[in-house]
Amino acid sequence: MSTYTLPETQEEQAGMSAVKYVYFFADGKAEGNGAMKNELGGKGAGLAEMTNAGLPVPPGFTIQTEACREYMRSGGKVSPEVNRQTEDGLRRLEQRQKQKLGSGENPLLVSVRSGAKFSMPGMMDTILNLGLNDQSVEALARRSSNPRFAYDSYRRLIQMFGNVVLEIPKSAFDEVFDAKKKQKKTKLDTDLDAKALKEIIGEYKKVVKKHSKRDFPQDPHEQLIMARDAVFRSWQNERAKTYRRINNIDDMLGTAVNVQAMVFGNLGETSGTGVGFTRNPAIGTKEFYGEFLMNAQGEDVVAGIRTPVPILELQKVMPEVYKQLREITTRLEKHYRDMQDFEFTIQDGKLYMLQTRNGKRTGLAAVRVAIQMVEEGLITKEEAIFRIDPSQVVDFLVARLDEKDARPEDLLTAKGLPASPGAVVGQIVFTADDAVEKVGHGTEKNPVILVRGETTPEDIHGMEVAVGILTSRGGMTSHAAVVTRGMGKCCVAGAGEITVDERANEMRAQGQVFKKGDWITLDGTTGRVLRGKRKMLPPDPENLAKLDKFMSWAEPFRKIRVRANADIPRDAIQARAFGAEGIGLCRTEHMFFAQDRIPLMRAMILADNEKDRRAALKKLLPMQRKDFFGLFEVMDGLPVTIRLLDPPLHEFLPKREKLMVDLGALPHADAKHKKALVDEYGEYGARGAGDLKKLLSALLHRVEDLHEFNPMLGHRGCRLGITYPEITEMQARAIFEAAVDAEKKSVKTHVEVMIPLVATVKEMENQGAIVRRVADEVFKEKGKTVHYLVGTMIELPRAALVADEIAKEAEFFSFGTNDLTQTTFGFSRDDINKFLPIYLDEGILKQDPFQVIDRDGVGELVRIGIERGRKTRPHLEVGICGEHGGDPSSVEFCHAVGMDYVACSPFRVLTARLAAAQAGASDKLKTEGGRTK
Ligand code: ADP
Ligand code: MG
Ligand code: MG
Repeated sequence: MSTYTLPETQEEQAGMSAVKYVYFFADGKAEGNGAMKNELGGKGAGLAEMTNAGLPVPPGFTIQTEACREYMRSGGKVSPEVNRQTEDGLRRLEQRQKQKLGSGENPLLVSVRSGAKFSMPGMMDTILNLGLNDQSVEALARRSSNPRFAYDSYRRLIQMFGNVVLEIPKSAFDEVFDAKKKQKKTKLDTDLDAKALKEIIGEYKKVVKKHSKRDFPQDPHEQLIMARDAVFRSWQNERAKTYRRINNIDDMLGTAVNVQAMVFGNLGETSGTGVGFTRNPAIGTKEFYGEFLMNAQGEDVVAGIRTPVPILELQKVMPEVYKQLREITTRLEKHYRDMQDFEFTIQDGKLYMLQTRNGKRTGLAAVRVAIQMVEEGLITKEEAIFRIDPSQVVDFLVARLDEKDARPEDLLTAKGLPASPGAVVGQIVFTADDAVEKVGHGTEKNPVILVRGETTPEDIHGMEVAVGILTSRGGMTSHAAVVTRGMGKCCVAGAGEITVDERANEMRAQGQVFKKGDWITLDGTTGRVLRGKRKMLPPDPENLAKLDKFMSWAEPFRKIRVRANADIPRDAIQARAFGAEGIGLCRTEHMFFAQDRIPLMRAMILADNEKDRRAALKKLLPMQRKDFFGLFEVMDGLPVTIRLLDPPLHEFLPKREKLMVDLGALPHADAKHKKALVDEYGEYGARGAGDLKKLLSALLHRVEDLHEFNPMLGHRGCRLGITYPEITEMQARAIFEAAVDAEKKSVKTHVEVMIPLVATVKEMENQGAIVRRVADEVFKEKGKTVHYLVGTMIELPRAALVADEIAKEAEFFSFGTNDLTQTTFGFSRDDINKFLPIYLDEGILKQDPFQVIDRDGVGELVRIGIERGRKTRPHLEVGICGEHGGDPSSVEFCHAVGMDYVACSPFRVLTARLAAAQAGASDKLKTEGGRTK
């Protein structure tokens, strides 16, 4: 038996005492500094930096994020060392202030403030006036000769502590407070006198006792420790988790805790508190912007208790303080070289700075401020391009809801998904056909909003004419969301608080019933739905000019090209206007959904022999040719990648269940019903009621033939072209005839024919051969050749793994990351909404993999595909055409793995261009760690 134990490792021994948990700041000297956001959080780093800069900051200390991580790891405990250093920090503060926390004739009071690396607005409320108890409140009253102030501070502490630490609902305190105001017949909190406040304190204590089964803690040290631990706990609450998920913040960062001596804005009319920005955060103009309140504390300014006063007024009320505040904030802006968002308090005419940070701003403001700062010489152009989040550029392109007209009483829901940005006003319709009818044919079109449970490809014609789409189900990648983003059309999806009854043609929200023709307003930028016609603000041309200037700075850093996904010339024109450098994906099936074509398409599908099928295809040929010609004309020599038919054929036919119902109802149908059915099935050849039975049975028969249990993995992609080579032939012919015609009219072409859903090189070989054969035929017939490439989409794991083989036949790859994500995860994109929300809540997935590329899994397949493909064909052209092509994080990934281009919907081209420029710019400037990718 071993007789000796292993010695403790040196690390362990050293680790116990080496961690510095507490960083002190006072009198122009802080132990930390502004660069230590990882340890001190944004707020703590800002306080340290301001202290070091000699600004008037109340002294205090920051307990660093490691203590929070420790608390998480140990399931809710801190080590004795953290407690020791906390007490030590407090002792230093007490010595510095010549006060004792919550005791003696001149009690020390502190605030306890949370502060993570990235600001998480409203995550945890700050506790002010900590240290007050039944004794110290009396001391404060005597010392300040202002009992009203003392009791006001104490009641605030009980309220904040009760809510934040003891988790008592705010409403429990509000009830007491409001009742007292009513009893005293006052409106303003400042009108309550010392006596009333004292009564409130008594009742607040009862509230605490009732809800938490304990007394409000009278021991100031106990208050401090409880408050500190509540900050640690707050990092793990649901609100915080959701916020981090939405903003891609790493769950493991933890928050710091700032303990800081109080200064009082509620001492009377020479005291006050305020917040401000060094520039306007909404529109970016260079103006001192903010609000303040005299005789107020903490969040009173933002809480809407009293109406705050514009900050420029401070100039009149306290000119000296105003001047000093301007000087300080200008200095801070220069120091941080970015717009600052600051908080201050005035105590008895003396100014204190309580916070500064880089201010959040809209896309509009971000661009304007960045341009100003370059012109002022504060930042370089390269730095400037990082001052806007690429997804914010859409702010420039869409109409905005006028917030002045967005009153709460008109709000039907604020919880829809902001699926596609912009704001629109329109009349409700419940079916695609009604949309077309209601929009009308005149030059003056009626704006309609298509409201549905969810949309399907059959609704396309209605979506096309509607100004906006509202669905009650479906997520950010639902059909409605994806299609509208492609169209640059406003969409609120998955608005669960709204019930859509498509049968009754009714929508219910907030207890009100809405019918066809009722007006509503959608705000797809935030996910709001409002009643009636709310006011809009158009995109501002002056802003667009600013954006142009800004983009011209960004462009030189971009190393990867940006193409658009576009199926028709109109979208292609739009895409070019946004700077697209080609078409990365033209989905030919979208051309078949057009009203004049779908009957021909259906005839083709219903044909049960090759001859009939060829006859139908022949009629489709000239239409396709015209489409392609149009695209070549618009793109004029830029690459146009055309994907051959991809979706399973049943998507073009009525639903099986619908046919069964109609067929079942037929024997009992009256004349009116029959007429409706004849109309409905007219495009399948119903001419009169007599045709219905035979037709419906035949249709049902064919639909059942085509029926698949899992169409996503069924008869689609190149499998269609292999089983029906005549479809590939027709499409190839249309493409090459159009290209030759175009070249003859001196339109340059750059054709890329793309075979979908290839898993084996044989499939590629089979389809490639047909395309090349038809090309030769057309060139011979027309006496002219055009240059073209034949390539494939890599959208199955197998294709990525055998990419070296496939590259022997394929001249380019385009990663179809929508299907690649489906097949890699084994998730059906249309069905994930049943579990994805839970996956995200539980942290099983950090992001929706259909929005942001999953780098570890799907991304790895992409890497492998590129590497193996280029082994065979070193100059293989590689791009991406999934939804990810417009997502900034995914664009960065595509840049990093060496793609030649990304492709995305036209309205995301600007976003992708900026994201690509950021990816191409200096590594030094890239976002700091702690964001999840
Ligand atoms: P948030 O992170 O939500 O902005 P803060 O910690 O900044 O929370 O504080 C909330 C409010 O309390 C702010 O108005 C802030 O200025 C004020 N405050 C915080 N600490 C003090 C203090 N030591 N003295 C006076 N006011 C304070
Ligand atoms: Mg703050
Ligand atoms: Mg994103």
